[in-house]
Formats: sequence, structure tokens, C-alpha cells
Amino acid sequence: MNHSIEKRLLGRTNIAVSRLCFGTLTIGPLQANLPIHEGAQLIREAVKRGVNFFDTAQLYGTYPYVREAISGMNRSDVVIASRSYDYTYEGMQKAVSLALESMDIDYIDLFLLHEQESALTLKGHAEAIRYLKNARDEGIVRAIGVSTHYVQCVRAAAMMPEIDVIHPMLNYSGIGIADGSASDMLEAIRIAHFQGKGIYSMKAIGGGALLRDVKGALRFAIKQPYVDSIAVGIKTWDELEMDLAIFEGREPDKALFERTCLNKVLIIEPWCAGCGQCVDRCSHGALSISHGHAVVDETRCVLCGYCQAVCPEVCMKVV
Ligand code: SF4
Ligand code: SF4
Repeated sequence: MNHSIEKRLLGRTNIAVSRLCFGTLTIGPLQANLPIHEGAQLIREAVKRGVNFFDTAQLYGTYPYVREAISGMNRSDVVIASRSYDYTYEGMQKAVSLALESMDIDYIDLFLLHEQESALTLKGHAEAIRYLKNARDEGIVRAIGVSTHYVQCVRAAAMMPEIDVIHPMLNYSGIGIADGSASDMLEAIRIAHFQGKGIYSMKAIGGGALLRDVKGALRFAIKQPYVDSIAVGIKTWDELEMDLAIFEGREPDKALFERTCLNKVLIIEPWCAGCGQCVDRCSHGALSISHGHAVVDETRCVLCGYCQAVCPEVCMKVV
């Protein structure tokens, strides 16, 4: 058994997290849709191997996996982050309550505003932040954060004293960063770090687009001094093994690498009704409607799977 994954404090939160954060989107209904016990087993194995940080979201539908995985564990052995799009006081209160009930926990370590864009959208979420501050005072939420694909949002959140943690899009190609390059994002992250914010990044592998260079992509994230932890979507035992090897500074087994790093794609089934809801949902401008059917621009798609959540025909799948 190996426990050599490094841990770091998330900014000034006093929360110690493994540098590998297990992103749960991939095991849930929007992606692999594993049976609950299988996804839970994968999470439990990660904990055994030294990973203590798990990222979920109301949108992901993965609370049941986390619930089963942590059942019987010491609650303090895992750090759980979730997030919601709610912007009202009551809405955010409901979102936090739902997370607590669904995962059968009495506090959550991090609760984030999902997909913020700018100082303006943060201002529009003032009531949700007010609730989160109250929840933090009561000990229901340990730290408040924002997730974002925008450099300008990282810069804005860095200056907000009520925000403890930022979850930004970061990979060496800048894939998915909505308003700048990887260097722009790194500079914003540096500023946020020196403002005391904890940073855990997302999409180090570009949502799958950099999978063929997974070692280079993850090592780029790992070597960033101001990134405390890196969320990586994991859905198979092979992926877990490969990510553990890279985070532990080992060379992944060649056969394991070949099995794991086949390209993923977004599939749109022929029964697409052309309603356009996915087009509106995609914040990367990767979808359009052509001849009554959704089409994906693979140069823009980061394989996040968010469009699947709004498709009334259930005809989108990342495979
Ligand atoms: S097309 Fe879907 S999977 Fe691709 S970036 Fe847009 S929302 Fe994400
Ligand atoms: S939401 Fe689904 S049915 Fe509607 S256009 Fe997109 S893929 Fe087609």
C-alpha cells in the first residue's frame, strides 16, 4: 500500500488535501454512469492509497457514490467539495442541505459557486455568498469557494475576503480557459495565492483532449507552486493507478498508459431533436445546430459533459 501522495494546506483554510483530488463527475450519470457500489469502491481505493480530497457538484449526480464510499469512514479522513449554481440565499441553503442529506454528512468541507465568470456574476451571487458565510460561521461549511473557467473571475475572487478557495480551469494548452491563455491563468492564480486563497485546479488533461500526453499534462499542473491540488476525473481502476503513479513521481506502466489514454469523444446520437438546449448550455461555444441536428466542434469541446445534463432526448454521451 502506498501513501506517498503529497498533502498541502488549501490556502489559509487549514484544510490539508492530497495534491490529487478525485473528480467524481466521470463516475456519475453524466459520464461513465457506474453502478453506485462500483464508483464507491473506486473512491474507497483512492482513500486507501492516500487520496483524501473528492470533488463533486449538485449537477454531477454523484452524491450517492460519495455517500456509500465514506459510510463507516472517519469523516475527518476525507475532504469533500461540492458546488451549486444557486444565487439566492434560500437556494444556496437548499443546495447545501441537499448535499449534506444526500451524502449523509453533517458538514461539508468546501462549498463553491459553480461556473462563475466575472466580478459581475460574483456580485449577482451576493445572497448565496451571504448564506455560505453564515453556514461557515455555524460550522456547516468549512470553506467557501468559486469554480471558474475565467481568468477575470480568478482575479476578482482573489480580492474578495469572503472567498477561501478558487477552483480554476488550468492546463498547459489553455483549453477551456474562456478569456485568456494558460500564462494569464497562472498569473491570476499567483495573485490569488498571495491573497491567501486555496487553489485546486480543474481540467489538467483538457477534459481528455491532452490524454495522449497525460504525463506531461499532469506534471505541468503538479509543478505549479501555487496550485495546492489538482482535480482529475477518474472512472476506472486503470485511471486511478495511472494518476497515482504520476502524482507519486513514478513512471506509469506502459501497458496501463496505452489502455487508459485512448481519445474520448462526445457522441450525439441520431435521434437528436435539434432543440438547441445543449447549444445554450455549452459555455465553450462547441455546439451548433446544423440541418436540425446538434454538431460538436471538437477543437472547442473540453468533454465536460455538462451539455448532457440538459438534453431532453438523452442523446449525448462522452465515451
Ligand atoms: S459540447 Fe458539451 S461536453 Fe463539449 S464543452 Fe460543450 S458542454 Fe462540454
Ligand atoms: S439538447 Fe439533445 S436533443 Fe436538443 S439539440 Fe442538443 S443533443 Fe439534440
